[in-house]
Amino acid sequence: MKFSDIPGHDDVKTRLRQLVTDNRRPHAILLHGPSGIGKMAMARAFVQYIHCMNPSDSGDACGKCPACVQHRNFNHIDTFYSYPVVKPEGKTEPPVSADYINEWREFMQDRVFMDPEQWTSVFTKKNAQPIHYVTESSAMVKWLSTTGHATSCKAIIMWLPERMNEDTANKLLKLVEEPLGDAMIILVSDDPEGVLPTIRSRCQPIRMNRYDDKTIARYLADYHKDLSANDADTLAHIADGSMAKAISLADDDDNNRRNLELFKQLMRLAYQRKVSELKRWADDVASLGRESEIKFYDYCQRLVRENFIYNFGIPEIQYLTSEESSFSVNFARFIHEGNAEQIAGVFNRAMTDIAGNANGKIVNFDTAICIILLLKRQ
Ligand SMILES: [Zn+2]
Repeated sequence: MKFSDIPGHDDVKTRLRQLVTDNRRPHAILLHGPSGIGKMAMARAFVQYIHCMNPSDSGDACGKCPACVQHRNFNHIDTFYSYPVVKPEGKTEPPVSADYINEWREFMQDRVFMDPEQWTSVFTKKNAQPIHYVTESSAMVKWLSTTGHATSCKAIIMWLPERMNEDTANKLLKLVEEPLGDAMIILVSDDPEGVLPTIRSRCQPIRMNRYDDKTIARYLADYHKDLSANDADTLAHIADGSMAKAISLADDDDNNRRNLELFKQLMRLAYQRKVSELKRWADDVASLGRESEIKFYDYCQRLVRENFIYNFGIPEIQYLTSEESSFSVNFARFIHEGNAEQIAGVFNRAMTDIAGNANGKIVNFDTAICIILLLKRQ
């Protein structure tokens, strides 16, 4: 990973380079900011820049020397990756990151923007909640004391330190309290408040900010050549500063289309009061499975909001893709002051109920019945 692989964040890149050139490299850094903006990539680029045997004059790793090649393959001897993991079923011993090294390498391949949810889905265990187990801190201590040096800096990059349990955090605290020699720990956090304050206070904090919509739209247009400028702008807006979310929305084109189709069906059938067909619709939505149902209802809430705004006729505040917008031409007038809030509320309740393990078929059908009543409201 090179600094140049990460869009924007020039202030942070300059600051990190400066730490190296001024020889003021801290022993512990807390790199923090919202999720999906390239913090892990930044930590990786920083460490690779330090290890690179032939860094460029512009202050970036060369990408070609043996150290850079090892970084690309996640097998640089002086770099330790720590990430939250799950205890496999039937095992009593707590796991360490290294147990999942193959999954990690595959997950990280060509990845600039991290998404904790996608990492969680790597684990097949149901309702997995990956954390840093206490064994991880012991593994770090051991690694720091035994592994041979190839460079002048051994670096630990820990992703999501907020997911340490208390024992792990206390053990890590001892590690950052003691002099580490030339070693460096970088904690990469989406939620720094979740990190033990005594650990936090020993780290040099570096904040990374969310992306602006323009930067995201430009990156998306580059990444997905078939995406129209309008759709890139819309997805950038929905992503709310997270490049990871914008990319997954763009990749998820088929799901977005399916969600729009289901939304259209619901509105048409509810308007025509076709109750038995709505029953079938409810079953279809239930067959998507819980995760997709939740995403569908999240999508519905957005569409209600956007259709309401559509009526004001101000294109600058509208965020609909081209397909959504061609549906809204005729549909938007059905969403108005008298029902917009209630309809969004019905979708929100459906989402909460499904997340709470309610029966999808029943929830979806109830939702459809409520929509019949609300669409008729003036
Ligand atoms: Zn290099």
